[in-house]
Amino acid sequence: AKTMRVDKLLSHMGCGTRSEIKKWTKAGLIQVNGAVIKDSGKQVHPEQDEIRLDGELIRYREFIYVMLNKPPGVVSATEDRHDPTVVELLADELQAFEPFPVGRLDKDTEGLLLLSNDGKLAHELLAPKKHVPKTYYAKVQGRVDDADIRAFEAGVTLDDGYVTKPAHLIITSVEEGASLTMSHIELTISEGKFHQVKRMFEAVGKKVTYLKRLSMGALVLDEALSLGEWRELTDEELHSLK
Ligand code: URA
Repeated sequence: AKTMRVDKLLSHMGCGTRSEIKKWTKAGLIQVNGAVIKDSGKQVHPEQDEIRLDGELIRYREFIYVMLNKPPGVVSATEDRHDPTVVELLADELQAFEPFPVGRLDKDTEGLLLLSNDGKLAHELLAPKKHVPKTYYAKVQGRVDDADIRAFEAGVTLDDGYVTKPAHLIITSVEEGASLTMSHIELTISEGKFHQVKRMFEAVGKKVTYLKRLSMGALVLDEALSLGEWRELTDEELHSLK
C-alpha cells in the first residue's frame, strides 16, 4: 500500500499547517500506532496506521460527502464576491478538502444540498442522462389544480421554448384566505434547468413564493438539520447514492 508523510496527511485532513504540525511533533503530540513520533516527515500508511493528534484519532479519507440544509441568502458556489457561499458554512476541517456544491439551488431556495470533493460522484449525479429525481416542496400563489398536474405530467413550455420532461406534482393542501389563496405542493423533476421549478409554475401562470429541496435521488434531507446546519453522510446514505 502507498505511504505518505504524516505532516502531509494531517494538513490534508485540515488539522493545521505543516509548520504547526512540526511544532506539535516536537511537543510529542503526534502518535502513530501508539508511539510518539519525533519526525514530522515520517512515512505512514494512511489507510492502515492509527494516527493521533493530541490523543484524537485522525480518520484519513480522500473524499467527503456533506448534506447541508441550505439557508436563503447563501449562494451555491465555492467563492463569491458579494454573497456568503454554502462552502463557508462548513467547518474549517471540511473546507480543507475543497468541497463544492453538487448541483445548485437558487440564492433564495432552501433545503438539501450535497457538498463533496468527489468529482466522479458529482458527475454521475448531475449527468442529464442519469435523470436523478429531485423533489421540492413549494408554496405557490393561487390554486394549483388537476390541470396543472396533467400539464406537468405532459411537459410545459418554459419561457425559452424548452419543453420539460414529465414531472410529478402532488397538491398537499390549498389554503383559502380572504384575499389570497396559497397552495402547498411537492414536485419531482428529473432534470435541472435554471430556475426550473419557478419557471414551470410561471408556464402555468402561477408564482412560487417559497422553495425547498427535500430529496435528490435516494438522499433525503435530514429534518433534524436546521437551516445552515450540515452533517457528513452516513455510509448507508453514501452507498444509496452510488
Ligand atoms: N428550481 C428552481 O426554480 N430553483 C431552485 O433553486 C431549484 C429548482
